[in-house]
Amino acid sequence: MTDNEHPQLIGSIRELLEVRRRCPCGRVHETPTQRVFIGRDALDQLPQMLTELNLTGTALVVADSATFNAAGEQTLSILRQAGGDVGELLVEPESGESQIEATEVPVQLVQQEAADCDYLVAVGSGTINDIAKAASTQLGMPYVAVATAASMTGYSSGLAAVTVAAIKQTVPAIPPLAIIADTEVITTAPRQMRAAGVGDLVSRSSSGTDWKLASLLRGDYFCPWVAQLAESADQQCRQAVGQIRQGKRDALELLMSGLLLAGIAITMAQTSAPASGGGHLISHYWDMTATARGRHHGLHGLQVALGDLICTALYEKLWPRIGETDVDKLVATRLPAAEFARQTREYYAPLIGPEAAQQIAQIATSKYATGDQLRRQLARIVSKPDRMWAQLEPLFTPGQQLRELFDNAGLPRTVGECGISPEEVACAYGFASRLRERYTVLDLAYDLGLLEELREEVFAEAGVISQTVAQ
Ligand SMILES: [Zn+2]
Ligand SMILES: [Zn+2]
Repeated sequence: MTDNEHPQLIGSIRELLEVRRRCPCGRVHETPTQRVFIGRDALDQLPQMLTELNLTGTALVVADSATFNAAGEQTLSILRQAGGDVGELLVEPESGESQIEATEVPVQLVQQEAADCDYLVAVGSGTINDIAKAASTQLGMPYVAVATAASMTGYSSGLAAVTVAAIKQTVPAIPPLAIIADTEVITTAPRQMRAAGVGDLVSRSSSGTDWKLASLLRGDYFCPWVAQLAESADQQCRQAVGQIRQGKRDALELLMSGLLLAGIAITMAQTSAPASGGGHLISHYWDMTATARGRHHGLHGLQVALGDLICTALYEKLWPRIGETDVDKLVATRLPAAEFARQTREYYAPLIGPEAAQQIAQIATSKYATGDQLRRQLARIVSKPDRMWAQLEPLFTPGQQLRELFDNAGLPRTVGECGISPEEVACAYGFASRLRERYTVLDLAYDLGLLEELREEVFAEAGVISQTVAQ
């Protein structure tokens, strides 16, 4: 690391790589990542770092055409000059597609090409990393990530987002042994990429709130130590959003550090919950249904930011209404689980096919409470909404503050800027929560019978369809 403008954050990453914490939350927090280099000419550190990590033999450099130009060619030449035996694989879009997707097809391709290699070097951002991380995990082969943009938290996370049989899944995967983010490379990435990075990182606010909510309502796993870690990454970057927007070197290094820190928090928690809540589910919905609607999905962090504005507005509109809830009536009129599953299946089948829809229905039903279980769950919040909010509030960012932050960061504030129609916003709002077992504010609003009722109010407050109302 060559920069010392933000020693606290980079210092905390270096310290975190050493951590093995037996936590009161019941889990052991650690990461397999051993080295992180962020800074000017970081790429030149690659040969030395490989030696230190005992990575010898044949490397396979995995990139796509854009990331090959950004840093792949340079990576190859640095490795070859150092005397390394290096192969290369350029991942291309599947036939008939113009965009590369992290599906089983490229993951298997990498596995085949890497069969005789000793380690992988993934040069790219989200998609290339997901592909390489999934392939490396399947092969039991170490990998090194060369970041080409400060665009998402996924570099250092213990998860890979891979679409299997039309369902976008985040599967447990082993993070890279080392991560290199060369400032020369990440400063030349398209500006939308760094805006996306801010979106992914700042969405921690409602994700963290969702995470805590699920633990308070349902006793789901939660760790205050990890939540604090994710929050510190987010908070420090918030102060630099203007400079990040301008592409200032130091600010981008800070953003990159924050993103890596958030990813490490995910690895350490062994769940993406610290940095992925309802806003992420909305983005996953848009990703999964984009093909059915004949368009490409947008950058993860930009979509997540829009999803986050919706979930934040939902928290704000929902909470004042909780006191008026009639729990007995809600329990008595609850759709039976089988009917809920049928409705979910019928909704998703035309979009992603009957088999994938069946799987989604099962996932959705697994967190669907009825009868006494629902009564107990709702009673926890209905009897004392203010006390519960007092526990959530420290994690939460008010919508007005979030909107100002996104404006300063140059993030799109309306879905139209990401090619998403108002109808898709309504659909995601109503059905995205069914994609994962994770419990979020979208589920709470549904369980309280207020999700659809609050829809227009929430959209107006979030301003994602038309900015004019929210100003
Ligand atoms: Zn813990
Ligand atoms: Zn994310």
